[in-house]
Parts: sequence; structure tokens; C-alpha cells
Amino acid sequence: MLVIGVDAATWDVIKPNLDRLKTFKKLMQEGVHKTIRLKQKPWSPEVWCSMFTGLKPEEHGHHDYVVDGKIVKREDIKAEFIWDILDKAGFKVRALNVPFVVPPYNFKVSFTPPGNGVPVEIHELIEEIKAVTDKALEILVNDKPDLFIVVYTALDKLSHFYWGDPLLVKFYEMIDNAISKLIPYDNEIIIISDHGFCDYDKAPIRTLPKKTPKGEIKGDHHPDAILIMKNVDCDINQPTDLFYCIKRRFLGE
Ligand SMILES: [Zn+2]
Repeated sequence: MLVIGVDAATWDVIKPNLDRLKTFKKLMQEGVHKTIRLKQKPWSPEVWCSMFTGLKPEEHGHHDYVVDGKIVKREDIKAEFIWDILDKAGFKVRALNVPFVVPPYNFKVSFTPPGNGVPVEIHELIEEIKAVTDKALEILVNDKPDLFIVVYTALDKLSHFYWGDPLLVKFYEMIDNAISKLIPYDNEIIIISDHGFCDYDKAPIRTLPKKTPKGEIKGDHHPDAILIMKNVDCDINQPTDLFYCIKRRFLGE
């Protein structure tokens, strides 16, 4: 099974640009797709943590990348993740660049992300997409994992500053192209985002102030996330459901 996370991906950009996003289009036609309307806050560290622990934020207790001036690490989170559980059960699991912590978390993968895992400049974001894709291909070809989880983080950072800008669609195209390289290696595919995006002024939650040292914020997080599934028989309505979907696939009920 191949799980591709696309941080901040929204139908509001994908659907009007399907002529350019050919892999999204193909997967939407071949599989099923829907909107996940989050009940939990559309806040990246909490949502990614919920997806892979099956726990709500109040249950996993992980709320932010930095707490009291200290970077939160995997070890600080008192929860079992899906890769821990399946690894113990004897499955070969790999996880690459999962952004519930910074730098993003890797399981049984050694990977140093560009920009130390917090890329902000455009060139760093482009390098990150390339580096993650190269590493993902290396894992798929050499390790042939039973479950591979990989997350692209660039759209979240980019959408804050470039919401409504043609550059954002270019980045969706880069990710579409990256996905096209990974999907030939698996039949069971899930593509999921941790939240969507919208105009800053319409955002139900503000994760950044309107003005930052790096410029004015144009967009912010929206509770509508995306889901595409191909050859996967699951009912995913909230981030926590992804954990149970994967667990059932490998361990049964
Ligand atoms: Zn996010």
C-alpha cells in the first residue's frame, strides 16, 4: 500500500486545473475521491499525528512543533504510530518526511531534507519535492515495502504566501508529476491532505498573522481536506480513520 500525503492540498486548486494535473485526474477517474471535512482543528502537526496514530489531538496530546521553546520530538509523543504497530507485526514499513514534527519524521529511512526540514524559500521548496521524490523512488525500488508513507510539505508553506497566484498551480503540477513517478510501484493507493486552504480573510482559523517578516499572508488553512483512493476499500471520513484503514488492511479487524 502506498500512502501519499500532500500537505494543504485542496480541491479548490485541483478541480479547476485538472487539464494540467493529469495524475490527479487519472487517479480520480480510476479510484474514488471525496472531501474530508475535519472536525478537529486544521492544524498540521495535530492532524498528521491523528492520521497515523488513530487518536484525536486530546488523545495523542501532540499540539505543536515547538512547546515552551523546545522542538517536540517523536519520543515526546506517547502514542504508537501505524508504522510501529505493523513493524512489530513483521511487515516492512517505511515512512518518509511525515510532518507532525520538524524536521519531518522518517521511519527506517535515513533522509536529510533540504532547508533542514523547514524549507521556506521557493528554491528550497522545489528542492524538497525533488529530494523527497528521489528518496521515495529509491525506497520503492530497493526496499519494496509492504506499506510506504510519503508526505509532500511544500504546498502548506507556499499557499500562505501565494494563495491565488499562478505559482501555486505550478507547484501542484510539480507534485502531480512527482506522484506520477511513484504510483507505478503500487496498486493500492491513498492520497490525502491534512487540511485545505482558502483566502486568509475567509479562513475559519488563522495560523499566522496577516503581516509577517516574509510578507503579507494571502491564504490560510481550511477544514476541507482531500482524499483519493484506488483499490482501497475503506470509509475514511476523518484523519483518524486513515490509521484504522491501514491497520485493517494489514492486520484484519
Ligand atoms: Zn498542513
